Amino acid sequence: MRDSNPLNLRSLIAGNYDHIYIFTHLRPDGDAIGSSLALANALKTGCNTVEVFCPDVIPSRYSFLPGVDLFQDSFTAREGKGLAFILDCSDLRRLNNMGDKVLQLDKIVNIDHHITNEKFGDVNLIDASAASTGEIMYQILQHDYELNYEISLCLYVAISSDTGSFKYENTTPQTMEIAARLLEKGINPSYVSQKIFDEYPASTVFLLRDALASLQFDATEKIAWMVVNDETLRKHGAEASDLDGFVNYAKNIKSVEVGIFFYQTDNKETKVGFRSKTVDIASVAYSLGGGGHPRAAGCTLRGEPEEVIDKVIQSVTQLFCKG
Ligand code: 5GP
Ligand code: MN
Repeated sequence: MRDSNPLNLRSLIAGNYDHIYIFTHLRPDGDAIGSSLALANALKTGCNTVEVFCPDVIPSRYSFLPGVDLFQDSFTAREGKGLAFILDCSDLRRLNNMGDKVLQLDKIVNIDHHITNEKFGDVNLIDASAASTGEIMYQILQHDYELNYEISLCLYVAISSDTGSFKYENTTPQTMEIAARLLEKGINPSYVSQKIFDEYPASTVFLLRDALASLQFDATEKIAWMVVNDETLRKHGAEASDLDGFVNYAKNIKSVEVGIFFYQTDNKETKVGFRSKTVDIASVAYSLGGGGHPRAAGCTLRGEPEEVIDKVIQSVTQLFCKG
């Protein structure tokens, strides 16, 4: 395994800052949460204060992670010199209204694996070849810190989430080697998988039933999509984070190249999630104001829900008209 030290964390923080702030993106996934908590758990024994922020609530399936109670959903800078780590976040819009306040801190370290990252930091450590931000965090932390069980668990959750439990095409020999090192620290893959993927409430399955009932295709059956709105969420007492992974049901149909999930909020915002088998979907998401990876990307659009759907389907259709 490549044994580089991409960022000298100890020298970066040594004595220069009063406060360390760790931020991750809205609608947080396992990589966002796991990477942030791995870093927080590593830094918490130092002499700086360490705080962790996310503009959304943390889905309850991650509540077994050590330090999850550290997350705060609103941010005000403290008196004194502040260092910010922004993890798994391709642009500052992903921090909602925290984004502007973050820019006022003394130093911003941007650590990410999205190809669409806008390099907004003073230090930008972007490795699009890494399957997850957790993989980059492992490289950074293992150099200078003892990876105890708590840190290893957070990293394993980050890495296994963003690889779909090591089955997506971003999974590399390095991913597997890091996972092996984490297993040596006592991580039980079956326990983690059970916690994250296999303990959903019945309401999530009923929500899925409604989502599947909305399944539609384009004429070529290369594009499939599903639609859910806030009213449906309320009907099931569900939250937006319960929709995570639903898009795969559209993508996993044999003829389908691109699966899309539309989540329409009451205030005329549509959150669009894309999954692709072969085509580069990050470029489409980016052209619509979002971002992501070649095979998994997203964006948020405002406007009449039906018009948003038409616009997105048109943009994706063009991928198949090129060449
Ligand atoms: P998901 O569909 O699971 O929400 O997101 C898939 C991927 O696209 C993730 O890597 C996520 O960070 C990225 N993504 C989703 N929505 C947005 C968005 O609105 N803006 C940006 N920049 N990235 C997004
Ligand atoms: Mn990620």
